[in-house]
Amino acid sequence: NKQIYLKDYVDGTPEETDFDVRIAESVPLKLSGPPGAVLVRNLYLSVDPYMRLRMQRPRPNPYYPTTFTPGSIMSGTGVCRVLDSTHPAFDKGDLVRGMTTWEEYSVIRTPATEGLFKINETSDIPLSYYIGILGATGLTAYVGFYDICSPKKGEYVFVSAASGAVGQIVGQFAKLMGCYVVGSAGSQEKVDLLEEKLGFDEAFNYKDEPDLNEALKRYFPEGIDIYFDNVGGEMLDAVLLNMRNFGRISLCGMISQYNRDNHEGLVNLRCVTRKRIRMQGFFIPDYYHLYPAYLEFAIPLIKEGKIVYMEDIVDGIEKCPAALVGLFSGRNIWKQVVRLVPE
Ligand code: NDP
Repeated sequence: NKQIYLKDYVDGTPEETDFDVRIAESVPLKLSGPPGAVLVRNLYLSVDPYMRLRMQRPRPNPYYPTTFTPGSIMSGTGVCRVLDSTHPAFDKGDLVRGMTTWEEYSVIRTPATEGLFKINETSDIPLSYYIGILGATGLTAYVGFYDICSPKKGEYVFVSAASGAVGQIVGQFAKLMGCYVVGSAGSQEKVDLLEEKLGFDEAFNYKDEPDLNEALKRYFPEGIDIYFDNVGGEMLDAVLLNMRNFGRISLCGMISQYNRDNHEGLVNLRCVTRKRIRMQGFFIPDYYHLYPAYLEFAIPLIKEGKIVYMEDIVDGIEKCPAALVGLFSGRNIWKQVVRLVPE
């Protein structure tokens, strides 16, 4: 049973050497101990930017709780097959999605089993989608765009980290709504894919732009109505200068700041008042009750080909550290997934 451990708290940019791949001597084949547990084979694991925040050295007034501790097995969302169950909600053979540990086989005990959900709809849908567009990633795009941004047809929408897991979905929701959509991403290859495969009206490589304010003025001569922020920092600051009156900003994430101790100053924050901007953060666990409604919304869109969902899949649990580290250099194109069992 291969397992991924965090060696120590992480300062600065995470590196592969922050993790250990260990092989446990035995594979659990049958459950023992108190009832209310499941033994699963992990099939797909998700790597996500928030994980970096969870391995931050503890400090006063943290903006995200440190929950990964040195010497512990990493955890995150996954798609798993139940091999044995003493829990009334799950049977042997079930497919589930939810919180699991970074090992090939996991034993998940009550109350952690509350984070597991049975997967019912599998026809024509790749299982890995349940840690992406049909998991927290998709729900984040849905809540962050429709609820937080109150979009209207014809509005000008800007999405940063647009070729990432959340960004690609937001951009397509905005297109379905009849908005004009521009995305930023970190390479020409990503820019081309956004325009050619996902139907973004335009895209640009933010790393090639010496002045982000000038770039945004070029792409939005009439200003931005909606900004879906995945990156924070300089991009957010430049966007504030280019927002239209009564614009909305969805503060989804700030990956450009996760490896720093403090957020870089936002010198243009005063624009929020003068332009009557509504800027709102949100945290997706608050919205899990919307998950069933979201599935009803998203599954038909996928099946009818109205949404294209793209993944960057690497094979083998030992790739988890590199996949996680790669999020911070933009190595991934689309949603980063680690596949543990070949199809
Ligand atoms: P992505 O798949 O978008 O992966 C991260 C991407 O961010 C990279 O591929 C890279 O793309 C870009 N990036 C990395 N470093 C920087 C940087 N310094 N400046 C600008 N871009 C950078 O991840 P997700 O789609 O899973 O997550 C997107 C955002 O949403 C994150 O901030 C995440 O924390 C947040 N999030 C928030 C949730 C909530 O509850 N509010 C829930 C889920 C996610 P590129 O090549 O373009 O630089």
